[in-house]
Amino acid sequence: MNVADSRRLAESLENYGLSAADGPHDADVVVLYSCVVRQQAEDRVHGQLHALQKMKAARPAMKIVVAGCVTDIPDWRTRYPFVDLIAEPGQDLTVRDRLIDLLDLSERYRFDPEQAIRIPGISEGITVHQGCNRSCTYCIVPSTRGGERSRPPAEVRRLIERGTREVVLLSQIVERYGRDLRPRVLLSNLLEQLDRLEGLERIRFLTSYPGDFGRDLVDAIADLAKVCEDVNLPIQSGDDVVLRRMKRGYVVDNYRQLIGRLRARMPEIGLSTDIIVGFPGETEAEFDNTLRVLDEFRFDVVHVAMYSPRPGTVAATEMIDDVPREEKRRRLHEVETLQKRIASGINARYLGRTVDVLVEGTAKGRWFGRTRTNKIVHFASEAPLAGELVDVEITSTEPWFLEGRVVWPQQELLGSGPGRAGATRQ
Ligand code: SAM
Repeated sequence: MNVADSRRLAESLENYGLSAADGPHDADVVVLYSCVVRQQAEDRVHGQLHALQKMKAARPAMKIVVAGCVTDIPDWRTRYPFVDLIAEPGQDLTVRDRLIDLLDLSERYRFDPEQAIRIPGISEGITVHQGCNRSCTYCIVPSTRGGERSRPPAEVRRLIERGTREVVLLSQIVERYGRDLRPRVLLSNLLEQLDRLEGLERIRFLTSYPGDFGRDLVDAIADLAKVCEDVNLPIQSGDDVVLRRMKRGYVVDNYRQLIGRLRARMPEIGLSTDIIVGFPGETEAEFDNTLRVLDEFRFDVVHVAMYSPRPGTVAATEMIDDVPREEKRRRLHEVETLQKRIASGINARYLGRTVDVLVEGTAKGRWFGRTRTNKIVHFASEAPLAGELVDVEITSTEPWFLEGRVVWPQQELLGSGPGRAGATRQ
């Protein structure tokens, strides 16, 4: 989300004549999109602010803005007096307007659309919904990002014109999109609209909250051609008592039924989840239930984090962080080891199969892209393939990616210049 929001801000600042610097060392304005969802992420924000303080001491005209998540704003203002603007929670969608005021942009710069063109990525994240009205006991997002509000993704057509082939609709709780808009719309309505856009190949959305994932959304993924069979559905724990302490609002069996519905319509759907280990009071037996659930549900990807208390949350103020750090680490490794085995098994089934890959770029001299189910695929080719949909036969598999060779389009159909390969599928 931070990448998507900063890209959107950068684009609108380009319309005021600003252009991207090589890095903070030669920037006139630095906007730091921060994240404080876990302690480790917050530590990085503080580290970056200290580095920026030194740069500003050498170049006092430099402007520093903090956006994204912030915790205790009065405290941050005292600690970082050199920061020119902190975008308060709830104002993240208007950072641009506040920057225009801060930099007096309309006065200083002349709008020059010729210079404002930049080539966006093949796959672009778009924040369509901010904030969260839920109150999971461990989560700082409601206090940093504020209440829920939606933003229709008006820029999609423009992105397609500039080469984007896939959009990823972003939110902390994406199923809630549109409930505050008038007239009220559902995420499935938005998916239907986007599915009709010519030039767009794929649509994804994340992250989901299991309690709001309705049947209309299951149908939208199954029925709409461009919506990828790929869902990020955080379960957080495989134990009902821990889920209750987290105030997640569902039990494991609700979750089991939901993924049952998804897999009944789309047997190969890509499923990822988030797990927190070492939540206050999590016993060995409760943790074992999480391992059992992971074994049963067989996710493609599991994002696992050690619990860290976040200021002001119910878990931090009313519960005791009683699982020792070493034990949290052990549980984290246990989840990772189990998941590596599961993901190896799932991916091994791809060997010898041909998958369709949207090519996103190169890494270490080879192309990479993703399948509709969000498997990363690496392959070699001399052809200019960025943005192309290609068929790749899988020749080897790893737990976190696949490798293969292009079988369509054939080499001789591919041009050598930049842009679309120009071959048509039979
Ligand atoms: N839609 C998601 C959901 O239903 O939970 C919310 C995504 S959340 C902003 C990102 C992930 O960070 C969460 O899924 C959770 O696993 C992790 N997380 C949030 N607060 C945490 C904390 N206090 N300690 C450790 N991990 C945390």
